[in-house]
Amino acid sequence: MDEPLSAAMPTDRARLKAVRERVLSGFRDADSGSDELVAVLQTVLAGESFSVSDVRRIGQPIVFVSDGFQALTGFRREEAVGRDLGFLMRADTDQDEAREVREAVREGRAATALVRCYRRDGSLFWNEQRHYPVKDPHGRVAHLVVVQRDVTELVHARSAHEVARQLASSLGGEGAFFSYGAILDGDGGSRIGWAHESVAAVLGFTPAELHERELLELIVPEDREAARARLLALRDEGGSRRDRYRMLNAEGRVRWVEDFAAVSWSAKEAGLVAIHGVVRDVSAERLKRLEVGGVDAVTGLPTVGVLVDRLDQAIRQARRYGGVAGLVVVELDHFDFVHRTMDPRRAERLLREAARRLQRALRRSDTLALLRESCFAVVLPDLADAEAAVPVVEKLLAWVARPFEDGSLRVELSASAGVALAPADGRRPEVLRERAEFALQRARTAGGSRFAFADDALERAAEARIDFERELRRAFAENQLVLHYQPRIRFSDASTRAVEALVRWRHPERGLLLPDEFLAGLYRARMGDTLFEWVLEQAVAQAAAWRECGDTRRVSVNVGPETLVHREFSQLVRSALERHQLHPGLLELELHENTGVLAFERGVDQLTAVRRHGVTVALDDFGTAATNLTQLRLLPVDTLKIDRSFVARVGDGADPGDVELLRAMVGIGHGLGLCVVAEGIETTVQRERVQAMDVDEGQGFLFSHAVPAELIDAATAAPPSVLRSLSVPIRSRPVQAS
Ligand code: C2E
Ligand code: CA
Ligand code: CA
Repeated sequence: MDEPLSAAMPTDRARLKAVRERVLSGFRDADSGSDELVAVLQTVLAGESFSVSDVRRIGQPIVFVSDGFQALTGFRREEAVGRDLGFLMRADTDQDEAREVREAVREGRAATALVRCYRRDGSLFWNEQRHYPVKDPHGRVAHLVVVQRDVTELVHARSAHEVARQLASSLGGEGAFFSYGAILDGDGGSRIGWAHESVAAVLGFTPAELHERELLELIVPEDREAARARLLALRDEGGSRRDRYRMLNAEGRVRWVEDFAAVSWSAKEAGLVAIHGVVRDVSAERLKRLEVGGVDAVTGLPTVGVLVDRLDQAIRQARRYGGVAGLVVVELDHFDFVHRTMDPRRAERLLREAARRLQRALRRSDTLALLRESCFAVVLPDLADAEAAVPVVEKLLAWVARPFEDGSLRVELSASAGVALAPADGRRPEVLRERAEFALQRARTAGGSRFAFADDALERAAEARIDFERELRRAFAENQLVLHYQPRIRFSDASTRAVEALVRWRHPERGLLLPDEFLAGLYRARMGDTLFEWVLEQAVAQAAAWRECGDTRRVSVNVGPETLVHREFSQLVRSALERHQLHPGLLELELHENTGVLAFERGVDQLTAVRRHGVTVALDDFGTAATNLTQLRLLPVDTLKIDRSFVARVGDGADPGDVELLRAMVGIGHGLGLCVVAEGIETTVQRERVQAMDVDEGQGFLFSHAVPAELIDAATAAPPSVLRSLSVPIRSRPVQAS
């Protein structure tokens, strides 16, 4: 112990020299030697923490600890003496380092070790131990003097510095920041061991005020669960994380911070992990983000200012034209958690995707805006009535509920919404917003993943509708829907050229339901597309099956009003045909006349594309809507189906005027070069009249009701009387799925 002692001990050189001489002069008798050594050390190392162990005895017991040692560790002398110095440590001490030190000591060299030690009260400190072996006159190591220093502060600063260095490249912004160290234990504790004094600038606490406090306590209660999960992830998985959350400053006010934390060491056996982090105040940034030019940088959505304008306009418009304007506030459930546990860039992507989906669920006239982090607002300007808001809101929530995929990551989110309507719930934007937010809170406290109306009565109506829609969704999922087919007879040769696919619902409690009983609700639920896809798939498959058996009958599928403007409409049709290898000429699409000129205008490209492919198009229920002749001429259709109300009037004892009207309609169809079909033929008289008018094809109960696919051969082969007896009971009889 030559150079190391004098070099490392912070005490004055003269005293060091003295002790060296005393020590070197030798302590012949081991026991008195200890006493003498201690006496010397107490003067030389006055005030310091040190221990003396006798290494010649079994277990190398401590024979003395200084007052400084007692102060540092909390152990009284009598508690320490007789034990191995290792009692300050726990299983988490680095064994390699301990071994190196022991070896050095055995060889009579001084050595320094940095070890995690525990005070009597269980608190941890970093102990810089300098081991000085003291030899006896024979040159054998007899005693070990260990001087201890609490370097916790230094270790933290060094680790924090390392973390800060890692972060430095990406810090950016001018937000104030501070670094800290904390110990995570097996029970989820997160005790702050150290904080840099710059914490005062961010949170207003002094480092001493934070010492030994739980990190989680400084986080706002709403963010705490998420923060706990994030700390557990750090504890169990190591590495580093960057997260944003809200902290409470000394005045109890909220600060948004970004915390970059990394694991600096871990002691698995003891269940302890130390993290060091740099916390940056990003509150200002967040505010800025929401305000730049009225557009949110992440989602590209308009922010509050724009929203208020639109809402104001919508309310005025509703008042002027007597409609209803809606404000929907949609909040992603538990998004804070996601945000906290996820790489922030991923979280941003998720938010952007959520915004995109919400936008997709809306009409062009609706306005989507970002209200605050993970909370959107939608203005629905021209609702027909209050109930019309329900399907929109449901659709919004349904879109969010679809799983999000980002690379290998799959996240399932849900959202809640609050709905307020003008003028019923208020006539001013602020009032509506407050009521919508209030309803949102109700939806969230009820467990989230749902919506609530500001108005109770609406809520009950909405519930009934939701039940219906839930049943409907189940109907699709559990194959409760079936298609029946009604033949269309070509008069020239009495052959069945086409069959119309007509949907039925085999309701588990209410029996077989006809379209009239559920279609309106289905369209209101905006599930028209789903129905179309389902019917198309079944019908095309059926036509292909018939084709396999050599029956080339065309199948005709009804297209609901919204489906036509569906962007992928023509693609949908083509892929169904391809999937089942069906010739396009064996598929016909029926568009209801009152689908409306607007839909025709928007869907005309799709229709043209489908027709060019070879699919034929029929205009259904002709005569029930006021399509003008010019429009009719421009529509891309092949067939005109005259509504059954006109056919019904040309039976026995018909008014000659009605007969002439029907004749004129047939003439228009033929004049435009279209195939003309008469619907709803129930009697022979009706059949004879329309046949005399040169109508090309007929459809109606006289020939057959709509029947399951398996019965279509029997239905078309049998004479009319048989057909009737065949088909009449079908409604009340359970039928097999086609
Ligand atoms: P639609 O397209 O006019 O279909 C013909 C309807 O008239 C069918 O009623 C059929 O059973 C009925 N019908 C046929 N012959 C006669 C007759 O001689 N006399 C009388 N009184 N009625 C006759 P259904 O099946 O109840 O369908 C009603 C409507 O529901 C259909 O009218 C169609 O607009 C709609 N619909 C049916 N299936 C589908 C579908 O798969 N998708 C869509 N989007 N709509 C459908
Ligand atoms: Ca039809
Ligand atoms: Ca029809």
